[in-house]
Amino acid sequence: MKHTSVIELSKSAFKKNIKFIRTKIGDPCKFVSVVKGNAYGHGVDQFVPMAEDCKVSRFAVAHAHEAADVLAVKRPSSEIMIMGMIENDELAWAIENDISYFVFEFSRLEASIAAAKKIGKKAKIHIELETGLNRTGFEIYELSRVAEKVRENSEHLSIEGFCTHYAGAESIANYVRIMGQIDLFKESAATLGSLGIEAKYHHTACSAAALTYPDTIMDMVRIGIAQYGFWPTPETRMYNMLSDNKVYSIDPLKRILKWKSNIMSFKNVKAGQFIGYGTSYMATKHEKIAVIPVGYSHGFSRSLSNLGHVLINGKRASVVGMVNMSMILVIVTHIYGCEIGDEVVMIGKQGKNSITISSFAELSKYVNYELLTRLPHDIPRIIV
Ligand SMILES: *Cc1c(COP(=O)(O)O)cnc(C)c1O
Repeated sequence: MKHTSVIELSKSAFKKNIKFIRTKIGDPCKFVSVVKGNAYGHGVDQFVPMAEDCKVSRFAVAHAHEAADVLAVKRPSSEIMIMGMIENDELAWAIENDISYFVFEFSRLEASIAAAKKIGKKAKIHIELETGLNRTGFEIYELSRVAEKVRENSEHLSIEGFCTHYAGAESIANYVRIMGQIDLFKESAATLGSLGIEAKYHHTACSAAALTYPDTIMDMVRIGIAQYGFWPTPETRMYNMLSDNKVYSIDPLKRILKWKSNIMSFKNVKAGQFIGYGTSYMATKHEKIAVIPVGYSHGFSRSLSNLGHVLINGKRASVVGMVNMSMILVIVTHIYGCEIGDEVVMIGKQGKNSITISSFAELSKYVNYELLTRLPHDIPRIIV
C-alpha cells in the first residue's frame, strides 16, 4: 500500500550546500558527512549514495548499528567513522570493515589492541580529547598513559585522528567556553605530539563551529545539519549572511528535504464550533478545513498543535486543533480551488513559499534536529 506521505531529496540543493561549506572550509580540508539519526531523517539508504554521487566519500555515525546501515549501501571506497558507541566485541567487525572509531576509554583502547592483534590488521582509531563538553574524551592528565599504550602497540593501531566536540558553537553565549575548548584541544594535541604520537587528521568542527569559528576547521570537519541545508541556529545564519564583507540576499544553504502529502478530505465548520479533539481551537467564523493524513506517528510533532503550518497551492495553511496520531487539520478558507488529492507540503518549498521547521520557535536548533530525526524510517524517500 502507498504511504500517506513521501520525502523527496534534492540532489542539486545538496550540491549547493557542499559548495557553500567548501568555500568556508577550504579545499585541502577533508569533509566528513555526518549521517547519524538515519541521516537526520533524510534516510541513509538514499542519502549516502546521493552524497557519493556528489564526491563525498567519508561518513560519520553515532553508533555501531548505524555504521552497519551505511556499510550496507556505501561504495567500497567510502569510509565510515563511529563517533560514539561500539561494543568491545564489535571492534573486530569494525577493524575488518575498515571502520574507524573514537576511542575515549582505556578499556576500548586495550580491546582495540587485542582485536587488532587477533585478526592481524590495524585498528583505525581517533583519540577523542576532553576539552570541556564533559561527555566523552581523555582528560589531559591521562594522555601520557594513552601515549604509552599507543607507542607500545603501534603496529596494531593506525591513529586516524585527534578529535573533540564543542559544547554549543551555535550560540555566542558559549563563546568563552568554545575558545577555551579550542585552546585545550591544541594543547592536548601538542602534548600527544611531544609524547611521540601524531594523527593523520585533527578534527573538531561540527556545522556551527565550521561556520563561525574558522580556527576549529583544521584539516577535517564533521558536518551534519548544514549539509542538509539547515542552519544550526538563527544566530549562525545571521553571522554567515552578513560575513565576508558581503550581505547575502539569498540563503546560501538550501534545504534538500521536502516532505509532502495530499489532501484527504474537507470539512466546513461554523463560527463557535470546536475543531478536532477537545476545545483547543474554536472557529470564530465560517472556516473550511482540510484533513491531511499525517500525524505525530509520522513525525509531525504534537508540539505543532495550533502552531504549525503546511503549504497548499503555494499558500500557508495553519494547523488548527491538536495534532492527532495520524491526521492534522488545517484551515484552507483562504485557499480557493483546492481539491482532494492536492499536494500538501509539511517541510520544504511549494511555489514561492517554504516551510522552515525552524520558523516555529527560536528553539530552532532543537526543533530542526529533533523533527528531522523523528521522520519515520518507513516513509519512502526519493531523490529528485
Ligand atoms: C552530530 C555530531 C556532529 C555534527 O553536528 P552538526 O551540528 O549537525 O553539524 C559532529 N561531531 C559529533 C561528535 C557529533 O555528534
